[in-house]
Amino acid sequence: MSDHHAKAPPEAATDSRPRRRLFVTETLVERAEIIPPREVSHRLLSVLRLPPGEVVALFNGRDGEWAAVLELAGKRDVRLAVSHRLKRQPVEPELQLCFAPIKQPRIDWLVEKATELGATRLTPVITRRTQMQKLRPERLEAIAIEAAEQCERLSVPRIEPAVALERLLAAWPDDRPLLFCDERGEAPLLALVAPPAPLAMLVGPEGGFAPEETAALRARAGVLPVSLGPRILRAETAALAALSMWLGAGR
Ligand code: SAM
Repeated sequence: MSDHHAKAPPEAATDSRPRRRLFVTETLVERAEIIPPREVSHRLLSVLRLPPGEVVALFNGRDGEWAAVLELAGKRDVRLAVSHRLKRQPVEPELQLCFAPIKQPRIDWLVEKATELGATRLTPVITRRTQMQKLRPERLEAIAIEAAEQCERLSVPRIEPAVALERLLAAWPDDRPLLFCDERGEAPLLALVAPPAPLAMLVGPEGGFAPEETAALRARAGVLPVSLGPRILRAETAALAALSMWLGAGR
C-alpha cells in the first residue's frame, strides 16, 4: 500500500475514484472477501486511518482493478468486500530489465523507478565487477508493489533470482533482442534502434563490464549494443534512461 500519504488525517473523498490502491494476491471477482495480512490492516486502519465504508481499489496483476469496501473484522483486522470492476487488465509489453546489482539505497530507487516505467521483469545479473552484496528479493518486491500501487499500474514486475552473466547469455534465445547498454563503443542511440517488445535491456555495474564480457556480449546473436548518449551514467540512471528511451521511441 502506498505510503505517500502516510499519517494523513481522515478526509472525505472528493471524487468517485478510490483514494487508495492496494495490491493483493487473491483472485478478484464480484462479492469476493479478502482479509489482508495483519500489517496491511494496521496500515489501512492506524497509519492511513481509513474509516469503515471507505472504498479502496484492488489489483492483483491478473484480474484488472476492482472496488472494494473496507469493513472491520474484529478490532485489528479489516475485510475488503469486493464490489465491481473499475478497469480491465491491460496487456503489457514484456520489458525485462537485466541489471548488475548496486548498493542500497540506489537499488531501491532503481526498482521503484523501473516499476513506474513499466518493466515487467527485473533480473539481477552478476558480472565480474559486480560489488556483490546480499540481495533481499522480498524487500525489492515490497518496493515494486508500493511503486505499482502509487503509479496506478495494474501489475507488479517479477523480481527474478540473480543469474551470472555467462549463464544468462548461454540460455538467451537467439530471436529475443537484448539491448546491451554499452557506454564505450560506437553503438547507436537506443532511441533510434529500439525494437518492439518483447525485449530485454542489460545495464552493467558501476565499474562497467570487463573487456571479455563486452566481447562475449558483442559476439552473441540477439545482442544489440546501444548507447544512452555521450555521458557516462551511473548504473541506476542508465537503467532508467534505457527504459525511458524505449518508451520515448513510441514502443
Ligand atoms: N565503468 C564505466 C567507466 O567508468 O567507464 C562506467 C560504467 S556505468 C557507471 C554503469 C553501466 O551503465 C554501464 O556498464 C552501461 O551498461 C551503462 N551506461 C552508462 N552510461 C551509458 C551510456 N552513455 N550509454 C550506454 N550505456 C551506459
